[in-house]
Order: sequence, then structure tokens, then C-alpha cells
Amino acid sequence: MCGSELAYIRQAHAHGQLAGNGPFTRDCQQWLQRSTGCRKALLTHSCTAALEMAALLLDLQPGDEVIMPSYTFVSTANAFVLRGAVPVFVDIRQDTLNLDEGLIEGAITARTKAIVVVHYAGVACAMDAIMAIAERHGLMVIEDAAQAVMSRYRDRALGGIGHLSAFSFHETKNVIAGEGGALLINDDRFVERAEIVWEKGTDRSRFFRGEVDKYTWVDVGSSYLPGELIAAFLWAQLQQAETITQRRLAIWTRYHEAFAPLERRGVLRRPRVPADCQHNAHMYYLLLRDQARRDAFIAAMRDCGIMCVFHYVPLHTAPAGRRFCRTHGRLTVTEESAARLVRLPLWLGLEEVQERVIDGVWRALGGCM
Ligand SMILES: *Cc1c(COP(=O)(O)O)cnc(C)c1O
Repeated sequence: MCGSELAYIRQAHAHGQLAGNGPFTRDCQQWLQRSTGCRKALLTHSCTAALEMAALLLDLQPGDEVIMPSYTFVSTANAFVLRGAVPVFVDIRQDTLNLDEGLIEGAITARTKAIVVVHYAGVACAMDAIMAIAERHGLMVIEDAAQAVMSRYRDRALGGIGHLSAFSFHETKNVIAGEGGALLINDDRFVERAEIVWEKGTDRSRFFRGEVDKYTWVDVGSSYLPGELIAAFLWAQLQQAETITQRRLAIWTRYHEAFAPLERRGVLRRPRVPADCQHNAHMYYLLLRDQARRDAFIAAMRDCGIMCVFHYVPLHTAPAGRRFCRTHGRLTVTEESAARLVRLPLWLGLEEVQERVIDGVWRALGGCM
């Protein structure tokens, strides 16, 4: 969806500051703070970068453990592996495919420092239970909210609940900037240091606010800021975030209603959204009965000219996952879901051809019993 993106890019160019942390960056950050209630938002060049910042802020030492799902994108784990930490994978829930909160405590050891939750498809993890576990064991909670911009849980914005959270504005997400992300800080203790890590380990942000008379190297850090052209594009997208979400929800709901009869016949399983989750329609997926049927479905859809994809290769089965991570217990739901899941196209503008996709699904599966 397109609004003021190009006008704002022109404005950023005319303003003359193309480096980061300019007026558009500040507009975006204030918007994120208002809409999630977080203490501080910092734009980054990706969600991956925001997760790396979170791992730096936790001061993880080699051998420290971080509990997370294996059913996720590689960056969830990689950000922590870069610090020498060990991702410990636990299984996911049958219904939401999110981290199974009932398995977390069994995976905690003396080395555990954090729990990383992934709000799969923009549907919230059981955050109240997870925050309570973290508090009991003195652990930090990081939300990988890459897919969850504009989603809510018990009337709180996702990204605004864990100690630190990461958003993605990658072009495959709902609200986009090409490549982009944000670190959200909900725990006051991290605010000052997060700005330093963000600005190459310097106190440049304090210098700009006039709090110090020169800036210098004070801590570890890197260059995590996007330039103002990216922020200008993103600012236009954020202004349309509500409309984007409503339009996606309409597409999602149309799929959901169209496939109800197929679910009743036991041919597929539709996504489940618990009553306390308000999702953002990031994704529409189907779970077929087994991998053979899923693969045949993808082939049948391709024959009708409709591209459907699946994900993820569970991280514990990937070469780097086997090398850097360990599992706690069996990951049966993870493995079965990865084998059975297929994503349907979901993008703005799909409305015009959505009936064709729905027909394709019915043709591929309607005859099955
Ligand atoms: C997309 C995604 C990321 C990575 O986001 P980038 O902005 O591309 O770095 C991380 N985690 C999850 C769960 C994602 O879906």
C-alpha cells in the first residue's frame, strides 16, 4: 500500500540529513513508543540487528543459555550464538505454534539467562505465564516480535511486554521499509546503554541532547541505525499501519471462512487464535495431514499458477543448529508442523484474485477425504 513514501523521501533529501537519527527516525520512534507503550524505541536496519542489540545488552557470556523455539527464523538464534550463548530449543504448542510455556521451566538450568519468545504469525505467546516464569527465575524475556507489529495480547501491544523486543520492517512483513527493524526497550535499566550500543559504542545521543560536551567511545557497540531515507519511507508506512492491518484482516478472515468446511471434513487444520490475542493477519497458513499431502498440495497449486511456500526448517535440524544449539526434550510438534504447514499468499491487492486462490485450494483438497 502506498501513501506519502516518495514525498517523505524527497523531504528527507531536501532537508539534507541522510544519515540516521534525524527527524523521520524520531517520528518513527515516537510512534512506536506511543503505540506499544515501550519506554524507548530505536530504529535499526533490521530485526536481526535489534536482536543482536538485545543479546549485547544482556551481557551474555559464552555458554550462557537462552530458551527459544526451534520453529522460527534463523536470526532468533543467530543473534545469541554470535555472543557465544547456546540456544536451548523447546517444543511449540499445537494450537498457535508458539513456544509451549508449559515446557519452559523444565529447560531452565543454572546457565539460563533469557527466554526468547516468537509471536508466530502475529499471534501472541502466553505472555502472562511466560513473564511470571521469568520473574520467578530471574530471567530476561526478549520478544521476537518480527511478525507482530500491531498485534495485541490482553489489550497490551506486542513488543511492549518483554524486557526487550524486536520488530521487523522487512518487505515480507506487514509494515515495511525494505529492510528495517526496531529495538523496543521496556525495562528502564537498558535505555541508556541501548543508545550507546546503537551509536557504535559512543555517547553521541547524549551529546546531541547537550548532556555531555563531546562524545567518545564508552562501551561496545556497532552501527545499527538506518539512514533517514529508510526512516522517511517507514514513517509513511506507520501512518497507514491501521489501514494495512484492517485490509489484511479482511483477507485473512475471507480465507478462514472459506476453509471452515474443509476443516470440518478433517482435510486440513486452520490457524487458531486464542481469545486473548488480537492478531495482525501477518500470515495465513494451513496444516495438512502429512508431508506427502502438503507437498502434493503445493505442486497442485503451482499447476494452477499459485505459488505457495512452507517454512521453517526447524533450527535444531539445520547444520548450524546442530553445531551451536541444543534441544530440551523431543520437538515433536515442531517437526510435525514444519512438515505439514503451507502458507497461502497474503498481500495487499490480493483481494482481486483471492477467489482464484480459494478455488485452487478447494480443487486441490475438496476431493480428499
Ligand atoms: C522476519 C523475521 C526476522 C528477521 O527480520 P529482519 O528484519 O529481516 O532481520 C526475525 N525473526 C522472525 C520470527 C521473523 O519472522
